[in-house]
Parts: sequence; C-alpha cells; structure tokens
Amino acid sequence: SRARQYGKEKRVNTTFKDVAGHTEAKQELMEVVDFLKHPQKYIAIGAEIPKGVLLVGPPGTGKTLLSRAVAGEAGVPFFTVSASEFMEMFVGVGASRVRTLFDEARRNAPAIIFIDELDSIGRKRGAGIGGGHDEREQTLNQILSEMDGFEKDTSVIVLAATNRPDILDQALLRPGRFDRQVVIGLPTLEERKEILLVHMRGKSLAPDVDAAELARLTPQFSGADLKNLVNEAALQAARENATQITKYHFQTALDKIMLGLERGSLKLS
Ligand code: ATP
Repeated sequence: SRARQYGKEKRVNTTFKDVAGHTEAKQELMEVVDFLKHPQKYIAIGAEIPKGVLLVGPPGTGKTLLSRAVAGEAGVPFFTVSASEFMEMFVGVGASRVRTLFDEARRNAPAIIFIDELDSIGRKRGAGIGGGHDEREQTLNQILSEMDGFEKDTSVIVLAATNRPDILDQALLRPGRFDRQVVIGLPTLEERKEILLVHMRGKSLAPDVDAAELARLTPQFSGADLKNLVNEAALQAARENATQITKYHFQTALDKIMLGLERGSLKLS
C-alpha cells in the first residue's frame, strides 16, 4: 500500500480547509480542537477531557488527513504511529515503543497521538495461542494502561483509525478509552467534486476540465483515489509535454485506473 512517514511533527500546516467534505466529522472534531486549545477551561469547571476518539471508515477516505488537521487547527504537535508497525518488532519492543510514544506526547502536551490501523493490534484478545502473552497483546495492553494512566488534566488526545470497528477488543471502547466514534465515509457526488477541486488547486488546468463531470464518472472513489486521478492526469500531460492538463488527459488517466481495477478484480476470480 501507500508508503507513509510516521514520527513526530512539531508544527503541522494541515487545516480543515485541506479536507473536503466530512462536515459532520469536522464539527465533532472541532470539540477536540477546543479541548487542546483551552484545556484549562475544561479543567477549571471539572469537565473531563476525552482521551480517545476512533475514526471509522474505509481506506483512503481521509482519516489521517483529518487527524493531522485537528493538530494543525489546534496548533499542537502530532505524534503518529501505525499499529501494524508494532507487529514487525522484536518481542517486547512494541510495548516499550508505546511507552516512549506516550511519554514524549505528555512532555509536549497539549498534543495529539494518532494510531493508524488500530485493528491490526486491537483485535479481540485471547483468541490466539499465546495465552494472552504474545507481542500483540502486550502492546495492546500497554496502550490501554497508558490511556488509563492519564491524569485528569493530561491534555493528550489519542485519535485512532480503523475500518474494522467490529473486530476491536471491547476493552478499547470502554469509557475513558476510545469512547467516541466519528464516521468517515466514502465521499458523496458533491464531496467528490470538492476533493477534486482541492487537488486541482495550483495546477495548470485547461478550461475543458470539468470537476463536476469527473465527480459523476467516479462513484465509489475515495479521496485517495481522486487525488491519484488528478496526479495521473498531470503525469499524462507531462509525458506529452503539454503545458496544461486537459479533459483528454483526465480521460486517459481514468481509463488507465479503470483498467487497473478490472485487472485487479479478474485476479480475484
Ligand atoms: P487509510 O485508512 O488507508 O490510512 P485514510 O483514511 O487515513 O486512509 P488518508 O491517508 O488521510 O486516508 O488519505 C490519503 C490522501 O487522500 C490524503 O493525503 C489526501 O491527499 C487525499 N484525501 C482523502 N480524503 C480527502 C478529503 N476528504 N479531502 C481532500 N483530500 C483527501
């Protein structure tokens, strides 16, 4: 899948403006932004700051992008890790890596921790042979105990992404852990147009390119797919030494992507 950079970003430039659609999700996440910007307001009145928010939806719909935008809007550092990364580690390393991650976030609070692909590590425990002592379970237990260990005034919020909330260990969803869920679905027709426009920004487009028409031709496309379409069209234009990206380049890119999808589904049967 897509290569990603995980680590720590002190200053995040992404804001909600970079995220097309997802109006309701943004509204819910504005609350998290407010907690991070004004933790004292909540502490003073005795309200508990939420600790974990689960972003639920299919791949490529902008869960990472939205999380980064929350950090950008609040002006706080962004610590990110993929849960599947822990699985590749030597025994015992996953749990200590979690400890280090949370320690660093606490030292830099207010801050956001983003855990991608939570389901890879957050599946129900006790199903495997390890008798509850395997690497994955130790790492999951460490995440749970870090979240439980937050003081009332710890302004670190953990956002996590999953496309399989149904297989998550119920312990993750208990109050004080990931007790809030925000649904990040595939874009609607109008949202596809908006996403295309976001990714067309700053590119040299011919007047015959029509984002609304392209949106109609791309049902079931995710935000990541649409971004890819714009880039493929730009690559096609460059290959032909064109000075503008035209409707024809988009058509060529779309044909190529559709052909790839067909090949992919043929492989399955
Ligand atoms: P995954 O579940 O595979 O980790 P994700 O939901 O985290 O995917 P992102 O990595 O945030 O998806 O999206 C990939 C890229 O697709 C983003 O960096 C962005 O460029 C583009 N994209 C996705 N959704 C949107 C959107 N709503 N608006 C603008 N761009 C989007």
